[in-house]
Order: sequence, then structure tokens, then C-alpha cells
Amino acid sequence: MITKGAGSVEYPRNGEPQSRPLVIANGRVIDPVSGIDGPRTVVLDKGVVKSVIDKPFVKSMLTDLFPGCGDGGVDVIDAAGLWVVPGLADMHVHLREPGREDKETIATGAQAAAAGGFTAVACMPNTSPVLDEASKIRYVIQRGESCPCRIYPIGAITKALEGEELAPVGEMVKAGAVAVSDDGKPVARANVMRNALNYSKSFGIPVICHSEEPTLSSKGHMNEGQVSTRLGVRGIPVVAETIAVSRDIMLAEYTGARVHIAHVSTAGSVRLVREAKQRGVNVTAESCPHYFTLTDEDVGLYDTNKKMNPPLRTAADRDAVIAGLSDGTIDAIASDHAPHVPEEKDVEFDNAAFGVIGMETSLGLVLTVLVNKGVLTPTQMVERMSVAPNRILGLSGGTLKEGAPADVTLIAPEARRTVNPAEFFSKSRNSAFIGMELTGAAAVTVLGGRVVFSFGIRPQSSLE
Ligand SMILES: [Zn+2]
Repeated sequence: MITKGAGSVEYPRNGEPQSRPLVIANGRVIDPVSGIDGPRTVVLDKGVVKSVIDKPFVKSMLTDLFPGCGDGGVDVIDAAGLWVVPGLADMHVHLREPGREDKETIATGAQAAAAGGFTAVACMPNTSPVLDEASKIRYVIQRGESCPCRIYPIGAITKALEGEELAPVGEMVKAGAVAVSDDGKPVARANVMRNALNYSKSFGIPVICHSEEPTLSSKGHMNEGQVSTRLGVRGIPVVAETIAVSRDIMLAEYTGARVHIAHVSTAGSVRLVREAKQRGVNVTAESCPHYFTLTDEDVGLYDTNKKMNPPLRTAADRDAVIAGLSDGTIDAIASDHAPHVPEEKDVEFDNAAFGVIGMETSLGLVLTVLVNKGVLTPTQMVERMSVAPNRILGLSGGTLKEGAPADVTLIAPEARRTVNPAEFFSKSRNSAFIGMELTGAAAVTVLGGRVVFSFGIRPQSSLE
């Protein structure tokens, strides 16, 4: 067991015997797929959801449920005051392994994910080497097997992310890739993207688009506007994103393939996705906590922890992202967790690396900025953070229906904390939210019926 701060992470190791049944009692169960928002008792056994009982928990339930188990053979979590939701999924993270294990490893990233309430993450292929063939996909899956979070690799669209030759998509999908993306870089040539879409369509996976027109964005370091002018920093205009989003949507419409627009940051992109959905284009989209929380004003005096790509935009863009999350134009919330070592951030703004970490602050920000302010209902929050990412990637989580994976997140909606990098499980510290007060956090993370993270809450044996 690894203990740090008040939280702890236990690893479910391969080959360990199946964990005991786990009953989550007295919580507020929120499962949009089943249409549930109310007090329920969730019963997990043998790695799946055994039942969700619409009765207040009493101990005698246990002998009815598990006659052979005897008293003490079942663990019970008292979830009074907590929300009990299908395990959260973050569909856009960078775990840096292989190649930059000094920034993050699959194991430390999985710990950070579990501490953030995530039971599944999809990791981007811009590692070193790039995940552009089946053997590398298999490597990530194998490294993820003993982790406290399910790890789903995304394969590259083009070999070495060079934007030229398509990677072997079919072989990567067969090996377990859940999508393809050149994230971190755009696929600059429209004909390459067109071929990728046609190719991916036959495998039923989405193409995740890092939509950026490089001839407009290159050498820029923050949003192009009044703030960049004042600071004397070369800007990245909103149109660098919207032109590419527009192209990717048009190619999806033309080919009939499925595209997912990553990290939407501009009002124009939200509008384009909304209009495309109305036309019936097969498009989904995500945005990230920094885009609905911060603006380019927050760059302040060259704060490199506010430097990411796409960059923080204006208040009008932030408000459009929030509106898109509210009306469902933006399907999913993802962190774009991008760990960097201090040497890449503690430098001049123009020389600093793009990207911020986010798995351990994502849920707290969604609760603080969106749910507590009435932008999203708790049900909509679960849709954006669990149902949609599972659906888009074709995973089996996102619900607590009988037979679903026993992946559950317990949320303490009133827990207060100040973001403190010393408490992060991530290897990196480049958070944009250091010092921010958040209300609401993951209390317990359950993976496959086993507690993999808890913040001061432990299951009790039913004997006690
Ligand atoms: Zn990206």
C-alpha cells in the first residue's frame, strides 16, 4: 500500500484472489444510463455490479445477498452523504511512458487518476517512441494491467506523428487501441486526414482530432489578443483552431466517419460542433477544466503553468465552452493531463513547454465551477465525465447496471481542499490551479470491486 497525505492507493495485483463482495450503502446513486438519482444500495461482486437495491441498507440484506458468505465475509462502505457514480473516465491524458518516465509513468499516472476519482483513462500516443504499431499498444496495455486504473491506449494516426504515412490502424485496434490521434500535433494535410477517417470507419473507432492550423499557430505561445499584445508574446489566434475544426467536421461529413474534437477552447469551435450535430454529422467533442475555469488574463506575468495548447482564451470563449458543456454540444470533459519536469516550465515563457497536469483537480473543478454554480446538474456531470467518454471510446463502463464493471467513484460533494502540489500522486507539479480552493472531491475509488483509493474512508467488515 502506498500512503501519501490523507489518501491511499492499493494496487490490485495480477493473480491475486478475487476481492470479497463490496456493498456501498446509504449513498446517493447517480446513474444517468439507468435513470437513477436517489438513495440506493450498490452491491459489487466478482468484478461486476451484482445489483442496485432500491431499499435502505440493513444488515440482514447481507445474508440474503450472500447466504454462503457468512457474517464478516462482505465489506460494506457507509456512503451516507456521498454521491455514488459509475467510475469516472478521462479520455485524454498523456502518461509519458515509454520515453519520459521522469515526467510520469503509467503507474504514477494511474495513481493520480485513481486519486482524482478516475477508473479509466485513455492515453495519447505522443510518447517516445510513438505508439504507432501494435507491439507498442500491447506494451502500454501490459504496463497498465497492475495499475489502480484501467489504461486504454490511443494509437497514432500517422507513423511517428509525422502527418504523412498512416499507421497500421487495424493492427493497433486489434491489439487494443480504442481510438487514433496525432494529439499534440495536427494532421496538417487534409488528404491524410481524409484517408485516416475512411480507414478508421471500417474499425468502428473515432479519430480524435487535435484541430490546429499550423501555419496560423506556429511560433505562438498564448492566445492572440489584447493580453498577448500587452505582454509582448506571439499569439495563437482562435482561427487557428476553428479553421481546423471546420475542416475536420467537413471531412467527417464527407466520409461519414466519426470524429472527436479534442480540447475545444474557442467560441467558434463550440458553434461549429453545435451546427454540425444539428446537421447530423458524426461528431463529438471534449473540453478541459482549464478552458471553462481560466482565461488568458490568468497568464498574469508570464505564468508558465498557464501555458498550454490550445491556449487559454478570452472570457467570451470560456463562457461559450461553459454553454457548450451545459447544452451537451461538448459531450465530455477531459483533463489533457500533460506532465512536465520543472526544467521545462521554470524558464522564459516563450521557451516553456505547453501543457498542464489535471487528473487530480478535474473533478474538484467540475464540481466547484460547474455543478455548484448550477451550470451542470449532478446527472449531467456524470454524463460528461463517465457516460460520454465510455460511449465515445466504446468501453463497457459508464453505468452501474447489473453486469457492468464494478468501477465506482464515491464523491464527497462538500469536501473542501486547497490545491497543493505536494499532495499530488502525479510525478509532475505543473498545475494551473495551485492554491485554488475547491469544493468537492473523490472520496473513494473502486476498481473491479476493490477499493484502490480512499480519502479517509475505509470499508468495514460486515462483522464490525
Ligand atoms: Zn492536443
